[in-house]
Amino acid sequence: MPSVSIADIEAAIRNVPDFPKPGIQFKDITPVLADGRLFSGVMDLMLEGVKPGSVDKIVGIDARGFIFGAAAAVKMGVGFVPVRKKGKLPWATHEQSYDLEYGSNTMAIHIDAVHPGERVLLLDDLLATGGTAAATVKLLEKLGAKIVGLNFLIELKFLDGRARLADFPVRSLVAY
Ligand code: AMP
Repeated sequence: MPSVSIADIEAAIRNVPDFPKPGIQFKDITPVLADGRLFSGVMDLMLEGVKPGSVDKIVGIDARGFIFGAAAAVKMGVGFVPVRKKGKLPWATHEQSYDLEYGSNTMAIHIDAVHPGERVLLLDDLLATGGTAAATVKLLEKLGAKIVGLNFLIELKFLDGRARLADFPVRSLVAY
């Protein structure tokens, strides 16, 4: 059983108004990471219901998704794949552009990061408009991956990012 409650996690998420731009309520998860009991509890909860052997790879989205994604991969004993901002991956990549809550971006994945038919679970810290996750889904589909789900620590429900991910199971622990 997870050792922490959703209320414990929610209490540790710091809201930073007007970062990185006026009007954005930035959800700072570093206090959660800094508390070993909370971080470990978050990992248990993010992977709740994900059966051993049901996933071949965990995909983490640049940059905070790497933290949760890598921890999840180690916990499950499967591989980790980073989806990064354009220009950061050294090998041949596929790229996908998208708009996000503040600004726009292009994401990239190594062309050999996932093999056709592999079952992947996506992890990120926060689902806002869903643009980042939807772009990641497109990259994974290009590689022939089977997306088993997308798990987020935080969801900004009022932005309805889920609507862009309607074809897949989407889970989040803390909603605003
Ligand atoms: P989106 O593509 O709009 O769903 O944005 C999701 C990405 O942007 C995630 O990787 C988040 O880390 C980051 N992000 C967007 N909005 C916020 C916010 N209010 N607080 C913290 N991170 C955010």
